[in-house]
Amino acid sequence: MISKKTIDEIMFATKIEDVVGDFVTLRRQGQSFVGVCPFHNDKNPSLHVTPRLGIYKCFVCDAKGNAVHFLMEHAKMTYPEALEYLAKKYNIEIEYDRPETDEEKALRSERDSLFIVNEFAEKYFMEQLRNSEEGQMLGLTYFKERGFKDATLDKFHLGYCPGGWDSFTQEALKQGYKEEFLIKLGLTKKSEKNKLYDFYRGRVIFPIHNTVGRVIGFGGRILKKDEKIAKYFNSPENEIYHKSDTLYDLYLAKKAIRQMDNVYLVEGYTDVISMFESGVENVVASSGTSLTDGQVKLLYSLTKNITVLYDGDAAGIKASLRGIDMLLEKGMNVRVCLLPDGEDPDSFAKKHRDSELQEYLTQNTTDFILFKVQILLEEAGNDPLKRANVVNNILESIAKIQDNIVQSFYIKECARLFELPEATLGSKIRTMLWKANTDKRKAENSVPTEQTPLQEVQIREQRQVEQQLRPQTNLRLESEKNLVKLLYKYGFYEISVEAENEDGFIQQRVDQFIFNELHNDEITIQDPTLRKIYDNYAERAAILQDPVSMQRTLVYSEDEDEYKFAIDNLETDQPYSPNWKKKYDMVTHSTENNIQNLQQEVQDTVLSLKLRIVEERIAFLRNEIKQKEYGEEDQILILAHINLLVKCRKNISERLNRVVSQ
Ligand code: ATP
Ligand code: MN
Repeated sequence: MISKKTIDEIMFATKIEDVVGDFVTLRRQGQSFVGVCPFHNDKNPSLHVTPRLGIYKCFVCDAKGNAVHFLMEHAKMTYPEALEYLAKKYNIEIEYDRPETDEEKALRSERDSLFIVNEFAEKYFMEQLRNSEEGQMLGLTYFKERGFKDATLDKFHLGYCPGGWDSFTQEALKQGYKEEFLIKLGLTKKSEKNKLYDFYRGRVIFPIHNTVGRVIGFGGRILKKDEKIAKYFNSPENEIYHKSDTLYDLYLAKKAIRQMDNVYLVEGYTDVISMFESGVENVVASSGTSLTDGQVKLLYSLTKNITVLYDGDAAGIKASLRGIDMLLEKGMNVRVCLLPDGEDPDSFAKKHRDSELQEYLTQNTTDFILFKVQILLEEAGNDPLKRANVVNNILESIAKIQDNIVQSFYIKECARLFELPEATLGSKIRTMLWKANTDKRKAENSVPTEQTPLQEVQIREQRQVEQQLRPQTNLRLESEKNLVKLLYKYGFYEISVEAENEDGFIQQRVDQFIFNELHNDEITIQDPTLRKIYDNYAERAAILQDPVSMQRTLVYSEDEDEYKFAIDNLETDQPYSPNWKKKYDMVTHSTENNIQNLQQEVQDTVLSLKLRIVEERIAFLRNEIKQKEYGEEDQILILAHINLLVKCRKNISERLNRVVSQ
């Protein structure tokens, strides 16, 4: 047991900002630090670290604690592991109250034991490479041929597993390590005749470390050329090795990644090591597969900038493009660097001087989206259909970008490259977001998860509304209808709306305004027909650019719901002004007399819909609480919710300048 005295010493010496700062890039903010929270998919820096108190706290996901908690949560350490890690970091000698009893030894978690066995294996392999005759002759020679320096071998803890049948396994068993753990870790295998043998026999060894530098697995490369046997063997998944949460070399690269505020992504062990030798240390490998969520999570608290290095042969490139869209979605800035034909990072680094590699990287790194455009356009040639597909494909990537300003930059850039009007691309993107949004909501509605009583009520309410069991729905239907009408008639026109963050007003298209308002409040059009028409809007707006044609698509729609809606609703309304001077000029359609009215009407319509929804909900909850037996706690919850809604209603009706009856 680690003594209380040691624990106190550790707590006293530990600087929370150092500990968290090893995994998260922190920025000073007054007395504290902020960084991107590694415990949820954080877009902004929500993690606050307060040195005075020695704590971290995320304001979004509510992760919080001291340095030990952080290590346990983020680096998945056990309590004693975290203490040991801190003691090592701050040069504190650990004092134990008393030696571990046999019982305690047995109780030590399996994870602990797995780490210990791996550490033994790593040492053994390193020792073999350096000091055994066979290791030197075969392993060391191989690494020298690859051009690895001695310092590199040590830095990466490279090793060699003897080529006999079971030398490693026998030694491990002799030292008291359990067969069960050796097998679980994939170090030892059992033959058909039940004989134990070394899995990595005759291979050079690349140990794999976790973010705090403990060995969690191994890669073993064969020395001979043998087509029949896999070039690399790797550890199986187990309690301490999760391939999808691991990046090769992240432990060594962390510091450089933070300093450079960029990370290079390569394929595997030898790529990383060669680049390291050439002085590029902010490099990690995903080990053959495309990046996973878990791997991105490890990176995005360190940097938002990632540069993917591609081999010169184009084969793999197209396949990997989709995986990269995922990075954009997570808010990463992605760039790519294409190596010359036939080269991978390892071979290129070997053939060139350090300065040449670095120069190449700087000069040939390009923006991912523009790179993708180039690759796909080359492939499409002059085929117009293929080119159209390329446009769609690229727009899908752009739609995934989180930052609006960056997004509009790309729209501009692609409009230029494709020689298409910016407005067309813009509305196409809106379609995609629109669609993604409705799809997401549909998916969410259909997933049964565990609900709080209040959520249950809301869901039931939703269902009832959808089945149109309730008379109020008609009022809502009216509001929804008005909104969809406005969308089709005036979607392209610009109104001025209150800017979100700053004071003052900005010009915004009516369709964008409506989309934002519904999207932000998570409002779905409930009437199925209207929802269909609403959802179809963006797709049409991407192709058509004048309101008359927009309305015509409805009038001439093959869908009965749509043309009925159009005929019933569009014709009867007077157009805003028969004299719009620039009726078809999509950019400056604001006409002096009417813009004010349109603005008012759009805003009122949106507000009315919101009012209806709030009213419906109030009525529903009141009815619910009357009819069903709720426990006191739930009742309080529901009443509180009603109160909130009543306030909300008051607020909306004030804005609508109307009086509603209680
Ligand atoms: P060669 O000497 O034939 O080039 P290599 O060891 O460099 O062999 P490659 O086939 O060139 O291996 O593999 C490309 C990259 O992927 C290298 O960095 C290699 O270490 C890595 N790699 C290959 N297989 C795996 C694997 N199963 N797990 C992790 N990394 C791998
Ligand atoms: Mn290679």
